Amino acid sequence: MKGFAMLTLNKVGWIEKPKPAIGPMDALVKPLAISPCTSDVHTVWEAALGDRRDLILGHEAVGEVVEVGSLVKDFKPGDKVIIPAITPYWETVESQMGFHQHSGGMLLGWQFSNVRDGVFGEYFQVIQADGNLALLPDNVSVEEGVMLSDMVPTGFHGADNAEVSYGECVVVIGIGPVGLMAVAGANLRGAGRIIAVGSRDICQKAARFYGATDTVDYKAGDIVEQIKTATGGKPVDKVIIAGGTLEAFEQAMKIIRPAGIISNINYLGSGEYIKVNRVDWGLGMGHIRIIGGLMPGGRKNMERLSNLLKYKKLDVSPLLTHRLKGFDQIEKGLLLMKDKPRDLIKPVVTI
Ligand code: NDP
Ligand code: ZN
Repeated sequence: MKGFAMLTLNKVGWIEKPKPAIGPMDALVKPLAISPCTSDVHTVWEAALGDRRDLILGHEAVGEVVEVGSLVKDFKPGDKVIIPAITPYWETVESQMGFHQHSGGMLLGWQFSNVRDGVFGEYFQVIQADGNLALLPDNVSVEEGVMLSDMVPTGFHGADNAEVSYGECVVVIGIGPVGLMAVAGANLRGAGRIIAVGSRDICQKAARFYGATDTVDYKAGDIVEQIKTATGGKPVDKVIIAGGTLEAFEQAMKIIRPAGIISNINYLGSGEYIKVNRVDWGLGMGHIRIIGGLMPGGRKNMERLSNLLKYKKLDVSPLLTHRLKGFDQIEKGLLLMKDKPRDLIKPVVTI
């Protein structure tokens, strides 16, 4: 079969591989819609995970089940399914501890395009299908469904980890598709004021659509000053980091209230250390928490989040700025995600 792969660092291309063999609990799936991710860009062009050779990329897909193992109970060939970016082994101790994202070791719940061939192949293997697949609701298109693989759960994880609550003031740094879903998640959790930081007009407009009350352009000056001006100097309750550089942590620390939460969902692809200013951190006694998390995967989370699309509580269509058709367009889609033209939020390729 054909797949679009990371050949080595800084190099991508089409390769031929054998069709994956599946185990008794697994499913073989063919993609119906895929979306390239900024994470693929960090992996290939920033060496964020180290080298990978001939690894098929991609971890965001809606697909059709082609074959299931003998122990799979709830899925059958022909089913249209959402494949979460995170597909852990559910029996591991990390999963039992509530952090399936790290099943088998740090970040290893993230299998596709990390330690296993991803979804940019004609076929791909989903381990533990009963635990890792979810049926696509009938009234959700494959293009919209693919936003459930990663963008919706990641953004919402940022809002969940920030423990956003009614009426709070939340800053979201970075409003690409992930940050936009963090805005939407914070809004659904009842935030009062949401200050969204990004420079591109299309992203600022989408942020307002998803519930941002204020937008700040980081290219127009120091964001700490701009946010303090907007709040009249009052600290904010929560900060969600979904873009920018390592400096975002220092900036967040300067605007957060005592006992506030800084919730990172950005994939920190380069740089060495995150700096925390001693005084901003309340001299070590400010009860300010920093948390960073890989999105939750698995079936239940997909079913739960797909209800938001099924029952029209969340509209992901504004994210889908570039719609491509055909398996061979995967390369173009990934390069769009790398080059980020000003009118791009997220590309989706239907197959
Ligand atoms: P994008 O590149 O589309 O968006 C990044 C955002 O950050 C844009 O709004 C951009 O602004 C903004 N930004 C860039 N530089 C700065 C700066 N100096 N200060 C403030 N804002 C800045 O990325 P995605 O939304 O696709 O992904 C966001 C991150 O989430 C990526 O690192 C991705 O790998 C990661 N990710 C993490 C996952 C997880 O499980 N935790 C899962 C999926 C993705 P503009 O373009 O407007 O200038
Ligand atoms: Zn992704």
